[in-house]
Amino acid sequence: MELDDHAEDLASDLGVDKEEVKDDLQNLVEYSVPIDEAKQSLRRKYGDGSSGGGGTPSAKDIADITPDDSNVTVTGVVLTAGERSIRYQGDDHVIVEGRLADETGVIDYTAWEDFGLSPGDTITAGNAGVREWDGEPELNLGESTSLSFEAESREVPYEIGGDADLADLRTGDRAVTIEVSVLECERKTIDGRDGETDILSGVFGDESGRLPFTNWDPAPAIEDGGTVRIENAYVQEFRGVPEVNVSEFSTVTPLDREIDVGSDTTTMDVADAVGTGGIYDVEVVGNLLAVRDGSGLIQRCPECYRVIQKGQCRTHGDVDGIDDLRVKAILDDGTGTVTVVLDDELTERVYGGTLDGALEQAREAMDQEVVADTIRERIVGREYRVRGHLSVDEYGANLDAEHFEESDDDPAARATALLEEVDA
Ligand SMILES: [Zn+2]
Repeated sequence: MELDDHAEDLASDLGVDKEEVKDDLQNLVEYSVPIDEAKQSLRRKYGDGSSGGGGTPSAKDIADITPDDSNVTVTGVVLTAGERSIRYQGDDHVIVEGRLADETGVIDYTAWEDFGLSPGDTITAGNAGVREWDGEPELNLGESTSLSFEAESREVPYEIGGDADLADLRTGDRAVTIEVSVLECERKTIDGRDGETDILSGVFGDESGRLPFTNWDPAPAIEDGGTVRIENAYVQEFRGVPEVNVSEFSTVTPLDREIDVGSDTTTMDVADAVGTGGIYDVEVVGNLLAVRDGSGLIQRCPECYRVIQKGQCRTHGDVDGIDDLRVKAILDDGTGTVTVVLDDELTERVYGGTLDGALEQAREAMDQEVVADTIRERIVGREYRVRGHLSVDEYGANLDAEHFEESDDDPAARATALLEEVDA
């Protein structure tokens, strides 16, 4: 069924203007709300009585709200409020997204109307819609919500404002405030929704780590490099890792402090790192269990650069391969495993020789596997500290290493340090 038919359907059921319903429907659908859910929420909005009609729903604690609730009344403190522009029917529409908290918990909300919400406000939202997003309930504050600001502010055990470290940002985070150093930045021309437009893309860093970014409305302070404070950014997934999005609604201010990028990077358990679904900058420590096939001296397709077997590229057929070095190794820390991928430079270091040296060794042995064997002997069974980009897909987790160092933690030293801590 087309959107138009759905709108027709709803309009006749509810006895309201079709164009109005269609606008709302389009809005919700473009915001990735499934059509059935969108229709249901409009039935509630226009009150067809099927879900109890006009009466104000009873007040609920945030912790008690479930995706099964259709409408609730909540009182809470606005932790964050970030504007974002979405488009429907050719028009840009500004929505506000953020988090609301009470003593019992926190919930994400989307405000479809301009209620003037600011972090720190204590509000009561009467008849707020509840929808499910990724298994969790979220609040929809719209036309049918009666919103009032409370004179007396509530205390909540959550931080007001969106201050965050890059390492803590997750896909879906909204209205975040970060202080970062611009590590890489390039201007690109893309085919945007209004035709060709310039954007900036690159990498931010702070003490906790690094993340890629896109700046949709190029901010001079970002393009100039240096350090900046960014308010009201949001996070979306791009190529398997979270990416900071800086929009026209974000505030970018130059900072005059230095940021020591990566100085506080925390080491994560492999299981926790994999559990995030992808991290741009992470460090893990584990034992190197095995060097996988396809390591050592390899050949790549000159067209697509993928690894080829016996001169055959899956896409480009018979090709003249380019010699290269790489390692794919399995690292295990007791909580999980990850495939660590070393590029040519890191491979040369663990191999203890250059590509030419590897070619020479393979010629002498008349077998290119000797290169992988040499690497195996050097690294398998040792403990390594690996830092890089982690991506997770259906085949498992890959960690593209930027740093690969033998761990200098020896277990005895760690035990002594722990004892000293306990004694102190
Ligand atoms: Zn190819």
